[in-house]
Amino acid sequence: MGDVMDALTHDDIRAWMMRFAAQVSSAQDMLSDLDAASGDADHGANLARGMAAVKAALPTMPYQVGTLCKEIGLVLVDTIGGSSGALYGTIFLRIALTAGPSAQLLDLPTLARGFQAAAQGITDRGGARPGDKTMLDALAPAADVLSKRAESGDTLASALRQAATAAEQGAEATRAMQARRGKASYMGGASIGPIDPGAMSVAMMMRCLAETATR
Ligand code: ADP
Ligand code: MG
Repeated sequence: MGDVMDALTHDDIRAWMMRFAAQVSSAQDMLSDLDAASGDADHGANLARGMAAVKAALPTMPYQVGTLCKEIGLVLVDTIGGSSGALYGTIFLRIALTAGPSAQLLDLPTLARGFQAAAQGITDRGGARPGDKTMLDALAPAADVLSKRAESGDTLASALRQAATAAEQGAEATRAMQARRGKASYMGGASIGPIDPGAMSVAMMMRCLAETATR
């Protein structure tokens, strides 16, 4: 087994956030361009601001993985702002709630339940359903893969790689969808064509997590 990781530590979550912050920073214009197609061209800037704030706050964040995820979620709500800030924050707040305040590790079953709770949280907060051309269309397939892989006893790294692929395929599938939530919904049929920016950034976030777990 060698260096196969079976649960995420505090340091792994920090490494995940550093990797995602770097990726968002370089993909900022691409994400905002996607948002320009049907929204207000600010998704890359919003997320880059949020992830820069997370990166800056990491050194003073708590050690337990649950409370760490909660702090990350709160920083994202505060600094991304708007609808996507509340939704991105919800992902981490629901993972935190699932793990509980004293958890020291996030194993595959906990992550699977956490991402399912995150997908449910996005629907609870923003009303989106699968097929509405939102970040949920990347997150929900990833959560489903994690649940299936947890049930079949897969390794964490393998499950996360498959979840990232599902998120990327989910993001790609948003091209054909018409937006029914968020600012893009005002575009009607004209929203068909480009990938939803939030689905694209969530897929990037899931790929960064998979890469962190494959060390
Ligand atoms: P804003 O829409 O406030 O400008 P961003 O541009 O940062 O925020 O993010 C836009 C993304 O947020 C969309 O691409 C979509 O994925 C996501 N989003 C917006 N509203 C919702 C919603 N109600 N449910 C799920 N995701 C949403
Ligand atoms: Mg926008």
